[in-house]
Amino acid sequence: MTALSTLRRVHLAQKAHRRALRQAMFAAGPACDDTTADLFATPDAFEPEPDTARQEREAAAKQICEPCPARAECLAYALFTRPTEGVWAGLTASEIRALSLYRSPVGSGQEVA
Ligand code: SF4
Repeated sequence: MTALSTLRRVHLAQKAHRRALRQAMFAAGPACDDTTADLFATPDAFEPEPDTARQEREAAAKQICEPCPARAECLAYALFTRPTEGVWAGLTASEIRALSLYRSPVGSGQEVA
Protein backbone atom coordinates (compact mmCIF):
# COMPACT_ATOMS: atom_id res chain seq x y z
CA MET A 1 0.00 0.00 0.00
CA THR A 2 1.43 3.36 -1.00
CA ALA A 3 1.49 6.42 1.24
CA LEU A 4 -0.97 8.09 -1.11
CA SER A 5 -3.50 5.27 -0.88
CA THR A 6 -3.10 5.25 2.91
CA LEU A 7 -3.78 9.00 3.03
CA ARG A 8 -6.82 8.49 0.82
CA ARG A 9 -8.16 5.78 3.14
CA VAL A 10 -7.61 8.02 6.18
CA HIS A 11 -9.35 10.90 4.43
CA LEU A 12 -12.33 8.71 3.51
CA ALA A 13 -12.54 7.34 7.07
CA GLN A 14 -12.49 10.87 8.52
CA LYS A 15 -15.15 11.96 6.04
CA ALA A 16 -17.37 9.00 7.00
CA HIS A 17 -16.85 9.72 10.70
CA ARG A 18 -17.75 13.40 10.22
CA ARG A 19 -20.90 12.37 8.34
CA ALA A 20 -21.87 9.92 11.12
CA LEU A 21 -21.37 12.58 13.80
CA ARG A 22 -23.46 15.03 11.80
CA GLN A 23 -26.25 12.49 11.31
CA ALA A 24 -26.24 11.69 15.04
CA MET A 25 -26.54 15.40 15.82
CA PHE A 26 -29.53 15.85 13.52
CA ALA A 27 -31.14 12.63 14.77
CA ALA A 28 -30.97 13.94 18.34
CA GLY A 29 -33.26 16.85 17.45
CA PRO A 30 -31.32 20.11 17.44
CA ALA A 31 -33.01 23.10 19.05
CA CYS A 32 -31.55 25.44 16.42
CA ASP A 33 -32.96 25.68 12.91
CA ASP A 34 -33.12 28.02 9.93
CA THR A 35 -35.07 30.59 11.94
CA THR A 36 -32.24 30.96 14.49
CA ALA A 37 -29.27 30.40 12.16
CA ASP A 38 -28.29 34.09 12.22
CA LEU A 39 -27.53 33.84 15.93
CA PHE A 40 -25.00 31.06 15.48
CA ALA A 41 -22.58 32.65 13.02
CA THR A 42 -21.12 36.00 12.12
CA PRO A 43 -23.76 37.78 10.02
CA ASP A 44 -21.35 39.00 7.34
CA ALA A 45 -17.84 37.62 6.90
CA PHE A 46 -16.79 40.81 5.08
CA GLU A 47 -18.06 43.25 7.71
CA PRO A 48 -16.57 43.40 11.19
CA GLU A 49 -19.09 42.69 13.93
CA PRO A 50 -18.85 45.05 16.92
CA ASP A 51 -17.83 43.23 20.12
CA THR A 52 -21.03 44.12 21.96
CA ALA A 53 -23.23 42.87 19.11
CA ARG A 54 -21.19 39.66 18.85
CA GLN A 55 -21.41 39.02 22.60
CA GLU A 56 -25.19 39.56 22.57
CA ARG A 57 -25.62 37.32 19.53
CA GLU A 58 -23.48 34.56 21.06
CA ALA A 59 -25.30 34.80 24.40
CA ALA A 60 -28.64 34.40 22.62
CA ALA A 61 -27.32 31.38 20.71
CA LYS A 62 -25.97 29.83 23.91
CA GLN A 63 -29.42 30.17 25.51
CA ILE A 64 -30.86 28.08 22.68
CA CYS A 65 -28.10 25.49 23.15
CA GLU A 66 -28.65 25.17 26.90
CA PRO A 67 -31.67 22.80 26.77
CA CYS A 68 -30.87 21.35 23.34
CA PRO A 69 -31.30 17.56 23.22
CA ALA A 70 -28.53 17.33 20.62
CA ARG A 71 -25.94 19.17 22.69
CA ALA A 72 -23.66 16.17 23.36
CA GLU A 73 -23.74 15.13 19.71
CA CYS A 74 -23.15 18.73 18.65
CA LEU A 75 -20.11 18.96 20.92
CA ALA A 76 -18.72 15.70 19.54
CA TYR A 77 -19.16 17.05 16.00
CA ALA A 78 -17.54 20.37 16.88
CA LEU A 79 -14.59 18.74 18.66
CA PHE A 80 -13.98 16.61 15.58
CA THR A 81 -14.42 19.35 12.98
CA ARG A 82 -12.91 22.20 15.04
CA PRO A 83 -14.96 25.06 13.57
CA THR A 84 -13.32 28.46 13.16
CA GLU A 85 -16.46 30.41 13.91
CA GLY A 86 -19.95 30.13 15.29
CA VAL A 87 -21.58 28.75 18.42
CA TRP A 88 -21.67 24.99 18.84
CA ALA A 89 -23.05 23.09 21.84
CA GLY A 90 -23.17 26.30 23.84
CA LEU A 91 -19.55 27.17 23.11
CA THR A 92 -17.90 29.59 20.74
CA ALA A 93 -15.35 28.30 18.24
CA SER A 94 -12.52 29.69 20.36
CA GLU A 95 -13.94 27.99 23.48
CA ILE A 96 -14.09 24.72 21.55
CA ARG A 97 -10.46 25.15 20.50
CA ALA A 98 -9.50 25.76 24.14
CA LEU A 99 -11.47 22.70 25.22
CA SER A 100 -9.71 20.63 22.55
CA LEU A 101 -6.38 21.42 24.21
CA TYR A 102 -7.54 19.65 27.36
CA ARG A 103 -8.91 16.56 25.65
CA SER A 104 -7.14 13.26 25.99
CA PRO A 105 -5.34 12.40 22.76
CA VAL A 106 -6.64 8.83 23.07
CA GLY A 107 -9.20 8.29 20.33
CA SER A 108 -8.79 11.78 18.95
CA GLY A 109 -6.66 10.70 16.04
CA GLN A 110 -3.69 12.58 17.41
CA GLU A 111 -0.44 10.74 17.73
CA VAL A 112 0.76 10.29 21.30
CA ALA A 113 4.29 9.16 20.39
S1 SF4 B 1 -26.30 22.47 20.90
FE1 SF4 B 1 -26.76 24.49 20.02
S2 SF4 B 1 -25.69 24.59 18.05
FE2 SF4 B 1 -25.73 22.45 18.71
S3 SF4 B 1 -27.53 21.57 17.71
FE3 SF4 B 1 -28.19 22.26 19.72
S4 SF4 B 1 -28.94 24.35 19.49
FE4 SF4 B 1 -27.77 23.82 17.65
